[in-house]
Amino acid sequence: MNTYDARRMEDILRPMGYTSVATPDTADMVILNTCHIREKATDKVFSDLGRIREHKLEQEKNGHQMIVAVAGCVAQAEGDVILKRAKYVDMVFGPQTYHQLPEMLAKVTGAYGSARIINTDFPVEEKFDFLPQENAVTGATAFLSIQEGCDKFCTFCVVPYTRGSEYSRNAASIIAEAKRLAANGARDITLLGQNVNGFHGEGLDGKTWGLGRLIRELADIEDVKRIRYTTSHPCDVQDDLIEAHRDVPKLMPYLHLPVQSGSNKILKAMNRKHEIETYLETIEKFKSVQPDIALSSDFIIGFPGETDDDFEATYDLVKKIGFTAAFSFKYSARPGTPAANMQNLVREDVKDARLQRLQSLLFEQALNYNQSFIGKTVEVLFDGRQSREGQLHGRTRYNTAIHAVANDRLYGQVMDVIVESAGQMALHGRVKTEGN
Ligand code: SAM
Ligand code: SF4
Repeated sequence: MNTYDARRMEDILRPMGYTSVATPDTADMVILNTCHIREKATDKVFSDLGRIREHKLEQEKNGHQMIVAVAGCVAQAEGDVILKRAKYVDMVFGPQTYHQLPEMLAKVTGAYGSARIINTDFPVEEKFDFLPQENAVTGATAFLSIQEGCDKFCTFCVVPYTRGSEYSRNAASIIAEAKRLAANGARDITLLGQNVNGFHGEGLDGKTWGLGRLIRELADIEDVKRIRYTTSHPCDVQDDLIEAHRDVPKLMPYLHLPVQSGSNKILKAMNRKHEIETYLETIEKFKSVQPDIALSSDFIIGFPGETDDDFEATYDLVKKIGFTAAFSFKYSARPGTPAANMQNLVREDVKDARLQRLQSLLFEQALNYNQSFIGKTVEVLFDGRQSREGQLHGRTRYNTAIHAVANDRLYGQVMDVIVESAGQMALHGRVKTEGN
C-alpha cells in the first residue's frame, strides 16, 4: 500500500514541477514513506533520516533548499517525536492527508518563511476524491487501492490507529482507475486493502458491491489479463468472492489469507475473531472451486502467552495446509495497542528458535512446491527486465516469481514458459517456442 501511496504522491507533485529521481543526494525534496507495523520498520526511519540529513546539509552549503518530509504510519503515530528529535524535518503527514501536499508545501516554502508542518488528521473529506488522475508510469503490474483502514482491532496491530477506520471506494472510481492503468500498460492488477475482502463500496447500480462483484466488473476490461487482491481477513470471505474464483478466469488462483497462529487460545488473545476450524473450512471453500489455488499466509510467533503447545499447533497447521509462500514475524509490541500491556511475554531466544523452526518448514514447503513445476509449462506474465541480457522476470498464475530466457519484446505479455529449475524463491525457465 505504501508503494501505491508513493505513486499517488508523485501524481500530486508532478503538476507542481517535481519529477522523481533515483537518489536523494541532489533532490529538492525527499519524502520518507514509512511503516509502523513492527518496531524494526520504525527504527529504520530514524537511521534513514540521519543519512538524508547529510544530503540536506550538503545542499545547503551549495545554497539549495532540500525539503525533508516524513509520510505514512510512523508519521501518523509519532509525528511529534519526529519533529522534536529531527529538527531538520520540514513536514510530517499521515497516510490520509497526502492529497493536501500542495497546501502543505506552500506553507513550508511560502513567502512567510518556512513553517514546519505536522498533519496527522483524519480529514472528513475522502482523499481519493481529491487526488488527481494517476499519471505515473506503470509497468505490466500495478497496485490499485480499493479499501483502506480497519475496524477489526487485533490486539497486536497499529493499523486501526494509523490508517483509521474502514473505508471502501466506489466502484466507478476504481473501474476508471483500472482502465487508465490498463491504458498505461498494466496487465496484472492487484487490488489492495488492509482487509480487501471486507470491500463494500457503492456499485455502478447504486447498490453495495462486495469484492467478488467488483472483480467481475474489472475482468471485463480487455487489457487487464490478471486480477489479484491482498490482504484478506478470514472473517470477511463472502460467497461472492468464492464464486468469482469459480467463474472469472482472470482471477488468479492465489490466496493470501493470514491466520497468524494455529492456536485458538492465541487467536482469541489476538482478537482475531476466527478460529482454526473456521479458517480450515474457508480454505476448503476456495479449494472446492479452484483446486489448484496457491495458499499463502502471515504468522506472528511469540505472541504474549504463546506456550510450546501453542507454537506446535501453528507448526502442525502449516504442515497440514501446505503453503506455497508465507510471511512470518516475531511478535513486536507496538505502543498503544492492547497486546503491548499483556503479561506473559515470550523470551527473545525462545521466539528466535520458534521462528527459525517455522521458517525452515515454510521454506521447505515453498521449495517442494516450486520444484513440482520442473519440466512443466506454466503461463507467465512478464513484468520486469533483468540485469542479465536476454532474460525477463515474470510471475506464474500462482504468483511465483520466474526468471526466463525471453526476448525483451515479450515484456507485458503472457507466454508459456517451460520450467527448467526451481529454488525456494523463484523458478527458472525458457519461453516455449514451436521448436521446444
Ligand atoms: N489485515 C491483515 C490481516 O488481518 O491479516 C494483515 C495486515 S498487517 C498490515 C500485515 C501483517 O503484519 C499481519 O498479518 C501480521 O502478521 C503482521 N503484524 C502486524 N502487527 C504485528 C506485530 N505487532 N508484530 C509482528 N507482526 C505484526
Ligand atoms: Fe491489523 Fe489486519 Fe487485524 Fe486490521 S485485521 S487490526 S489490519 S491485523
